[in-house]
Amino acid sequence: MNSYPDLHLYINGQWRKTASDLPVLNPATEEEIGRLPKASISDLDDALEAAAAGFRVWSQTPPVDRAKVLFKAAALMRDRQEEIATAITAEHGKPLPQARLEVIRGCEFLEWDAGEATRTYGRVIPSAPGVRYIVHHQPIGTVAGFSPWNFPMSQPCRKIAGAIAAGCSIILKAAEETPAGALHIARALDDAGLPPGVLNLVFGDPAEISDHLIRKDQVRLVAFTGSTAVGKHLTTLAAQHMTPVLMELGGHAPVIVCEDTDVEAAAVTSAVRKMRNAGQVCTSPTRFFVHESIFDAYTESFVRRAAETVVGNGVDPGVEMGPLANDRRIDALTTLVEDALAQGAELKTGGRTMDGPGYFFQPTVLANVPDSARVMQEEPFGPLAVINPVASLDQGIEQANAVPYGLAAYGFTNRADYADRLCEGLEAGNVSINTLEASLPETPFGGVKSSGFGREGGTEGLHNYMITKNLSHSLSIV
Ligand code: NAD
Repeated sequence: MNSYPDLHLYINGQWRKTASDLPVLNPATEEEIGRLPKASISDLDDALEAAAAGFRVWSQTPPVDRAKVLFKAAALMRDRQEEIATAITAEHGKPLPQARLEVIRGCEFLEWDAGEATRTYGRVIPSAPGVRYIVHHQPIGTVAGFSPWNFPMSQPCRKIAGAIAAGCSIILKAAEETPAGALHIARALDDAGLPPGVLNLVFGDPAEISDHLIRKDQVRLVAFTGSTAVGKHLTTLAAQHMTPVLMELGGHAPVIVCEDTDVEAAAVTSAVRKMRNAGQVCTSPTRFFVHESIFDAYTESFVRRAAETVVGNGVDPGVEMGPLANDRRIDALTTLVEDALAQGAELKTGGRTMDGPGYFFQPTVLANVPDSARVMQEEPFGPLAVINPVASLDQGIEQANAVPYGLAAYGFTNRADYADRLCEGLEAGNVSINTLEASLPETPFGGVKSSGFGREGGTEGLHNYMITKNLSHSLSIV
């Protein structure tokens, strides 16, 4: 069954084709599976006009009614799980079971923010008699959102859910490589009764689109997930208009493995998690700092499980890891591995591309990698792990913090004092002990340092999409 959708822009509640388009490829076969319409400047201006009208309607819609639309859309997407998952696997390459889980995670983001829409409480500040000070939160306005290709469904869901739950309108540019996930969200919201213009979906030249949208006074928030380099560029553009930004950028997650942990369990969990989504996850565990007393045993178990990873086309049963999402990742990984080996790192497994067609790269483990190697500083964003020994927890924390990133960080230990030092000492927006899960709908997610700022999810998430307004009301004129 070919359930890959016919691709369109979605502007003012209408599906739109345009004069020029782009190919969408299946990264497992390199075959073209669709043609994606490219938005022109005039399409973007239509989206801006629609978003202005959508905001006027939606910001005046009671939160409980906004929530109903989001809950209904999530229910429709749950019904369509198989169709959406099949499309995601075709355009992204991830194994079908992982695509199915991603659809559900996207629904959970919509459902969480739907609930939060009704709970963006303000407060009353104690005051003198005859005066009231009331703090309340209002939707910020039109949002320009940009979502990446690594999670074609759940990444756009996060941006769309936050904006719509808060009462904003949004123009989302989802990733050109993986448009089907975002299109399915738009379709579900349209079917659920979202008024025209509240969500507008565009694709095209990313730089042209961001440049055009961010310059408009109408755009009151720039929400981006992607690389730190692009995030800094968009933040600079937004700063010229004093437009706030929500930036969820790259990570280079450290994992500190303490000597008291269950070595085999920690190593197997780590290897499986590292290869999930072919390592193309901003929270992917990558730099493993292992106490020297368990380094050999941990490395051996990790390498064994990594080498056992079943790699193939994501539609085939039993496949654990698909191809990389595009050929840019192959070049980046090859360069990082070659550089590390030239500097004396040990190649424990993998290290190369696999026979084509498709953008396949072997699950790769490097050990004893010198600090000077590029991979110690640059996020590989692929199935590549680095395992290095450390003499103490303090040394592990120091190494963990020695990068410009601070998104997710992990530790394995059963000791309360070690866990406390990890929680306090690791510079990251998300620290997880004995689990490599860092992002759930109900927990706030985001980074420090060059990993960005602002939070998505949790009770914090919607506040990025709202302004805080203080009302001072005196009963008599003073
Ligand atoms: P890239 O830096 O070219 O693009 C990253 C994302 O930003 C893509 O979705 C792209 O469409 C978008 N983009 C690029 N230029 C833009 C612009 N001027 N305006 C608006 N959007 C723009 O890199 P890439 O090759 O696509 O991905 C590689 C790197 O991106 C990875 O190494 C990783 O660090 C990062 N990345 C991070 C995430 C994440 O979840 N934080 C997701 C995908 C990619």
